[in-house]
Amino acid sequence: MEKAIDWKIIAKEGEARTGIITTRRSQIETPVFMPVGTQGGLKGVRFEWLESEMDVRIVLANTYHLFLRPGTDVIRALGGLHKFSTWNRSLLTDSGGFQVFSLTDLRKLTEEGVEFRSHIDGSKRFLSPEVSMDVQAALGSDIVMVFDECASGDAGIDATRASLELTARWARRSKDRFNNLQEDGADSGFVQSSSVLSPAFWRPTTPSAEAAATPPKTGNSPPEGGTQNEGLSGRQALFGIIQGAGHLDLRKESLDRTVEIGFDGYAIGGLSVGEEKPVMYDVLEFLAPKMPADRPRYLMGVGTPEDLIEAVSRGVDMFDCVMPTRNGRTGGAFTSRGKINIRNAKYATDNEPIDPECGCSVCKRYSRGYLRHLYQAGEMNAAIMISHHNLAFFLDTMHRVRQSIKSGHFARFRSEFLSKLRENEDLGV
Ligand SMILES: [Zn+2]
Repeated sequence: MEKAIDWKIIAKEGEARTGIITTRRSQIETPVFMPVGTQGGLKGVRFEWLESEMDVRIVLANTYHLFLRPGTDVIRALGGLHKFSTWNRSLLTDSGGFQVFSLTDLRKLTEEGVEFRSHIDGSKRFLSPEVSMDVQAALGSDIVMVFDECASGDAGIDATRASLELTARWARRSKDRFNNLQEDGADSGFVQSSSVLSPAFWRPTTPSAEAAATPPKTGNSPPEGGTQNEGLSGRQALFGIIQGAGHLDLRKESLDRTVEIGFDGYAIGGLSVGEEKPVMYDVLEFLAPKMPADRPRYLMGVGTPEDLIEAVSRGVDMFDCVMPTRNGRTGGAFTSRGKINIRNAKYATDNEPIDPECGCSVCKRYSRGYLRHLYQAGEMNAAIMISHHNLAFFLDTMHRVRQSIKSGHFARFRSEFLSKLRENEDLGV
């Protein structure tokens, strides 16, 4: 059967890998940071900037939020989320599970699914593996996530085991429903295979043609010449999710059970949910190298620039996080020398850009002093421009990560980047 996505590794250094994911809509160089468009759009940053300035190839949207508002009927009536939002590159949708499980007081969990009260109007709603697959088919995202249960970070071993067993049963149900939906033509983002990824679309963000010609050093055998649309089905791809909190033996068990079902890619869930940093790094160090080498590995909901680099060094390929826009709205800016907060009085007469080393359009033009003034005056442009810079900084960091892996200097890049990052922590972000 034709596959939904292609995954090709270009170079490796230690566990760190750089490669290209080809979906039916775009080619995505990895490691990749996926900006989060919770409601089908980013908070404060228009798609135009993502396309023209940052060359973002994939954005994440939240099933839970879009399911509640505007609702799947509206989005399906308007042709799916790509047409509705005009974002024509790749979309990944989460399953809604994580949001529902964070509504601790408002939900009732059964084998069948989760009943919960909408945070918008208090109405009773229901999500299950089948409903989540239905919604994600209506949205027409290019990468679909299975519906999972995420145990809390401090859950004991029995609760975590019960949770991962439920997650495994739900993963099976998700895949069954997903397959039926694909066969029934319910995917509103379906692309005829003849028009999947027209060659004109393929513009590498980096001069990687040379690197792409280099054989992978992993022993995998990616398809020949997979730089275009050859062999893609035009259908949605489905990723499985590995749970198990901080218990390594349970993580391994969850991995085995998920791989047994078989998915286009594998995600690590249940990290960055309140556990200590060393726990996250230990889980990644243990788990990532055991995940299938020939599938993309996605660490959900993580993280800071430091987390991204540390996870890449342990073998992770994909990330998403709301931090660039969430922090941006409260004046928090990420820079190559650590986080700063533009509200700090010391920036009142500062004529430097947010990050003198950043090439984004905000840093090219505006000073910290001016942005601080806008912020203090309650001008929405302050939040918009800091969010813009933060996204550009995250995207540029991943670009540099990819380049360093390709040139075999990732270890040096990692140590220099991290020590610089700690130089000027401004706190309070
Ligand atoms: Zn900038």
